Order: sequence, then structure tokens, then C-alpha cells
Amino acid sequence: MQCSMSKKHKQILVKTVSDCDNHIMSNVSKLFRHRKVYDLNGTDDLFARSMRDNALFQQKNCEDYRRILALNGFDPADIKTVDDLTDLPFIPTVYFKHHYLSSVPDKKMFIKATSSGTSGTMSMIGFDMKSLLTGVPMVLNVGRYHKLWSARPVNYIIFGYQPTKENKTAFSKTAYGFTFFAPALSRTFALTVTDKGYKLDWDNVLKAMERCAKSRFPMRTIGFPAYTYFLLRDMKAKGIRYKMPKGSMITMGGGWKSFYTEQPDKKEFYSLVEEVLGIPEDHVIEFFGAVEHPILYTDCRCHHFHVPCYSRVIIRDPDTLKPLKNGIPGLLNLISPMVRSVPIISIMTDDLAILHDEGCDCGETSPWLEIIGRVGITDIVTCAAGGEKYLKEGS
Ligand SMILES: [Zn+2]
Repeated sequence: MQCSMSKKHKQILVKTVSDCDNHIMSNVSKLFRHRKVYDLNGTDDLFARSMRDNALFQQKNCEDYRRILALNGFDPADIKTVDDLTDLPFIPTVYFKHHYLSSVPDKKMFIKATSSGTSGTMSMIGFDMKSLLTGVPMVLNVGRYHKLWSARPVNYIIFGYQPTKENKTAFSKTAYGFTFFAPALSRTFALTVTDKGYKLDWDNVLKAMERCAKSRFPMRTIGFPAYTYFLLRDMKAKGIRYKMPKGSMITMGGGWKSFYTEQPDKKEFYSLVEEVLGIPEDHVIEFFGAVEHPILYTDCRCHHFHVPCYSRVIIRDPDTLKPLKNGIPGLLNLISPMVRSVPIISIMTDDLAILHDEGCDCGETSPWLEIIGRVGITDIVTCAAGGEKYLKEGS
């Protein structure tokens, strides 16, 4: 008996030492397993604990982050409530374009994703396996809430780059990832690889659309909203109309980027989808996220991006950087403890946004995010701007 007790104790001790990091991140895992996706009030305490744990981990393992905390006189151990997160130093996304930060050894980085396309300055963010696995229950939960999972196979049309070994952009990875929400019968890419690089192949997309319209199985499109809009506008102008099979869906991500000025009125956009493809408004879904903040924001049936329990959002005054009241536009500060391999727990984007808390007809009480533009739009070369080049070449 004594022998077995001591053996058990030994096992516990060994496990405690070897899983030290796992223990540190157990609050984070618990948060990401929370099934009520938009339950902010119910997760505030867990969120604060998760942020404290992750910030302490970054402080211990990333020299640059340790310096940033010290310069700001911030001790992560002081994070007691979500309100304390307003004082946690944030890192601007632009910082990652010039500095590669990491908190785990390079050999542990499972994937490295870049934030933009084939041109411009790119951020390189490394994700270790543990961080990616943390995100899995979030994707499962969000997919379940928004009815994205389907056992019925679908034909995918992707308004993005065909993935290759060299293509490390987050968009192509994410777009490909989205083709697992429902089994893929086929995948058609709008930007295909040729000997001269990527080429926009509208004809191929239109042919695929025609096949999809005749199929017994639903179609799903994935892509930048701008690409989707331009294609639909083009189809309408050419008098092309389809009635896509029941259950077909338009999914979009990556924002409007440099196409803000061409952004149509949302109602106009949804009626265009209905007119050209016969897909109803409630089957048009938009996602929001960033390589520096890989949280899945999905619009509700009223097309609002409610903040999920896996993140928190602070809108800051562009001049003073002080938090603003809800309803007032400012700089978008995104906060999440998901990733441990890089100190991206609080990042400042170059987006201008408003956080709304006036309630929503969908019934969710979580505030929702409205992205209204970009700061310094002319000197930012984005994925979509890179894509614009292909659009011009393709037309
Ligand atoms: Zn809503």
C-alpha cells in the first residue's frame, strides 16, 4: 500500500513538473472550451485569469515583451479583472512587420503565417501546436452556433489563392481551412498558379458556378467581400443568373481593405447575391479576424460581428489612446489569450472601429464590432491590395 502510494505521488510530481506549462495555460483551455460563444458576462473572471496566465508566460519567455512590460511599469500578476486589461500594454500590428517575436523555441513553431499577400511588408507570426489546438474548440463552437458545420458535401469556390508550399499567407491557409466545415466535393480557386505566378481565372470560376447550379449539392463560396462583390456585379452586367441549390452559402472574410470606397450598401449587396445566385440573405456570412488575432468573429443574422467570449475589444482614442465609451469610433485594440507562441495577447490594429452595445435583433447581448475604415490607408499594402493587381490583370 505504502509502495503504491509513493509511486502515485511520484507520478503526480513528474506530471506536475513536465506539464508545468500546461498548468499555466489550463485557464486558457477552459475559456476556449466554453460552449456559449457570446457569453461575455459569464466568462469575465475566467478571461481575466487566462490573460494573466498568458501575460506571465510571455513575460517569462519573450525578452522583448518583458522589456515592453517593464517600460510601461506593468506587472501581469496585477490582472485581477477584465477592467485591468485596459492598462496591459498593447503591441501595434505594424511592430510585427519589423520584428519577429516568439515565446517558444523556433522548432516548436508548427506553422508560420504572414499577414499579407505577395507584396508589401509582411508580419510573420509563428503558431505552436498548443496554440492551434487551443483554437480548435472555438472553431467547433462558433461553427455550431452559426450552423456552418454540415455533413452534406458541398462544392467550394474560393476567391483566393490556390495554396502552394510557398504561399504562407494567413488568408490562403484560412480559406483552405474553411473548406472543412462541410466535406468538399470540389474546390475551385479563382487565383490559380501559372508559370508566371498567380493568375485570376474568372472563366474557370464562372464554369464552376454553372456546374454548381446544376449539382444536387450546395455550393459555398469563400473569399474577400470585394472579390465576391466584383464577380457578382460582373455576372449581373453580363446577364448571368443562377439558382444555386438549397443550402448554398456565401462566406466572406478579410474585410474590404483598400476597397472601402467601393463598398456597396449591405442591403444592395445581399439583394445582388439573391438576384444573381438565388441565395437568401441569411445564407451570406462574413468573418472577421487577423493573423495577429486569430479569433473567429462571425456575423449574426443581422450581420453584426458580436464579440465572442474568447476575446475582448477596446476602442481607443487615436490621440490619447485612452479607452472610449461604446458607440464612439476609435482605434481597434483586440485582446485574446489564445496564442502562447507569440506575445499577441493585446494588439493594436490599424482599423478604425465602433463597439456597439445598443442590443441586436438577433437576441445576443454581447456588444458588436463595426469596422469603419483604416488608418493611413495609402501606406498599407494589404492582401486585398495585392489582389487588386490580379483583378486588373485578369480583366
Ligand atoms: Zn446580432
